[in-house]
Amino acid sequence: MADEKQTKLDLNNLKAGGFIKERGKDLFTVRLRVPGGRMSVPRLKKIAEVAEKFGGEFVHLSVRQSIELININFRDFDAVVEELGEKSQKVASCGARVRVPVACGGCEYNPNGLVDTQKSALEVDEKLFGTPTGHHKFKVAFAGCPFDCPKSATNDIGFQGAIYPTLDKDACIGCGLCAKSCVPKAIAMGEDNKPVFSNDPCIWCGDCVKVCPTGAWSEAKRGYTVRIGGKWGRNPLVGTLFATFLPEDRAVEFIAAVLEWYKQKAEGLGRIRLGDTIIKEGPEELLNHLRSRFPENTVAETIAPQIIATQIGK
Ligand code: SF4
Ligand code: SF4
Ligand code: SF4
Repeated sequence: MADEKQTKLDLNNLKAGGFIKERGKDLFTVRLRVPGGRMSVPRLKKIAEVAEKFGGEFVHLSVRQSIELININFRDFDAVVEELGEKSQKVASCGARVRVPVACGGCEYNPNGLVDTQKSALEVDEKLFGTPTGHHKFKVAFAGCPFDCPKSATNDIGFQGAIYPTLDKDACIGCGLCAKSCVPKAIAMGEDNKPVFSNDPCIWCGDCVKVCPTGAWSEAKRGYTVRIGGKWGRNPLVGTLFATFLPEDRAVEFIAAVLEWYKQKAEGLGRIRLGDTIIKEGPEELLNHLRSRFPENTVAETIAPQIIATQIGK
């Protein structure tokens, strides 16, 4: 009995360290840490070598951008870690801690990218990865623009690149391209054949700035919009807007402030995610906490994370 308990404890510890027990006897999946889903080609080759030597016939790319080595015998753990090179390729983690952040390609080569999501993901990975929350897992995602390919709003904290546009009417030649390209219809052409902007429908995508041939539209602000309290799983939630145009270099500080609130407010509530804690405490509690640190970026008011029904048709 004591041995069984010991074995279970060891498996949990291993899982926390990124070594996950498989169905087969003695076999584990080793989850590798790939912040933002970016990996150099030499490192990819090294991982392929290690997988070929110690693993099964394939590797698995997880939905959160990790490479998972499959069918690793636990007797080979030390050799796998050593051959991967612990410094250059770290193993990921599971459990109640900050997970590896995911990110899209961002602004380096993606034509829609408005911010450097890769830089943000690396910073968060370096400074916050593995931080224990004391309650539940904690996921972060960075999207380069409001298209939100990484589905950031279903993470505990989701960041989306955004631009607030401003118009210099004198520079406008009345071509109408901005109004045509503004999908949410935040721009209409006025009687003077100049654009008329409506704030509410604008999703801060920056398309008007990109399309304007004369530079009449430019950016007044650039940064991240931040949605908090999302999650997936059996009872999914969509995170809601808590901050706008957060400077890219304040993302780590912002996450740390949310973590501080979460650790404190979820005390004694058991295994509870951030979104459910916000629902319980009320979103204004967290908003006030953030407003004291980020007065220029927090929104005036927000709502609790929204429930998504996934068992549709049942
Ligand atoms: S979220 Fe935007 S920047 Fe990122 S991959 Fe999608 S379209 Fe490109
Ligand atoms: S930023 Fe996007 S949504 Fe807003 S006005 Fe420009 S094109 Fe329209
Ligand atoms: S795209 Fe530029 S030039 Fe053309 S209507 Fe819009 S603001 Fe004016």
